[in-house]
Order: sequence, then structure tokens, then C-alpha cells
Amino acid sequence: MDKNIINIHDRKILTELFEAIDFAAFKHRYQKRKGIKPVPYINHPISVTKHLIDNLENPSLELLQAAILHDTLEDTKTTSEEIDQKFGSKVTSIVFELTDNMTLPYHVRKKLQIENASRISYEGGCIKIADKYCNIYDILNTKLGWTRKRKIRYIVWAAEVVEQIPLRDTKLEQSFIKIVNEAKVLLKTDF
Ligand code: ZN
Repeated sequence: MDKNIINIHDRKILTELFEAIDFAAFKHRYQKRKGIKPVPYINHPISVTKHLIDNLENPSLELLQAAILHDTLEDTKTTSEEIDQKFGSKVTSIVFELTDNMTLPYHVRKKLQIENASRISYEGGCIKIADKYCNIYDILNTKLGWTRKRKIRYIVWAAEVVEQIPLRDTKLEQSFIKIVNEAKVLLKTDF
């Protein structure tokens, strides 16, 4: 039998994951990623989710759905009720943890991410690390028009957030450490 055949159970999981992709793609439909060349926003949550599939041993469907949806509350008009209705309370609470309070000033939000990271759930912590990994990957590999100083400032902050997340010695954490070390070489700095 073809080893790539998808069984009934996998099919249910794939369908539910694609429902989240469909939902998020629609919600982000007018947004583009930061950068000189236009990239649809949805490519970012897709990259974050793929990074989690590659680096977690047993990711749950809820974790992957929350990864796809992680920016919908913060960056689109999506409400937590909508997410709750479609994907349930577990996914909603993870996405909520990953949502900054946009009524607060920028520097307060950035500081709160460091302060709250130590109390984050396992799923929220995994997504936050993957999110920061993908953002650093983009900073290093795409033309954003950012100054070297701005790039360094983002990476130093992201590393501070990740340091507070209680997920030691996982493959996911190792991948983050690796990209920060690559950034140090590429940006010729030792922050
Ligand atoms: Zn994100």
C-alpha cells in the first residue's frame, strides 16, 4: 500500500487544520507582510505552523490551529467569540495569550511580553518561540528596509522574551538559539 495514503483519522485532523488556514487567510486577506516585496500576510502564520510541525514531537491539532490563528485577534477584526464558535475554547485561550493589548503603547506591550512569558501555557510558549524564530528568519533573509540597529534591537528583545518561556532543551528552543547565533554572525555583533 502507498505509504503516503492519508487515513480517516489523519483526514479529520487535516480538514480541521485547513479550516483554520482558510479562516485565517480570509481574515488577513487585505494585509501584507512588512518588507519591500509584497508577501501575503498568511504566509507568516503558515511558516510559524510549519516550523512547529518540523520541530515538535507530538503537536496537538489545537496547538497547530492556534498557530495559524495567532495574529487574527491582534491584527484583524476577528473576535474571540468567532474563534471560540469555530475552533473551541482551548484554541481561543491560546490565541488570546498570544494577543497584545493594542490599546497600550508600543514599549509597554513589548515589556509585557517579556514579563508574561514565564506564565504562558505550553502551547502558547511553543507558538511564541516559533513566531519569533520566523520573524528573525525574515529579518535575516528578506529585504525589509530595516537598519542594522533596528534588526539587532528586535532580535535582542525576542531573545529576552524566549528566555523567559519555560521550554528548556527542546528541539524548538535549540532552533531558536541557532538562528540567534546566525544573526550574530550575519550582523557582526555579540549582543
Ligand atoms: Zn506572528
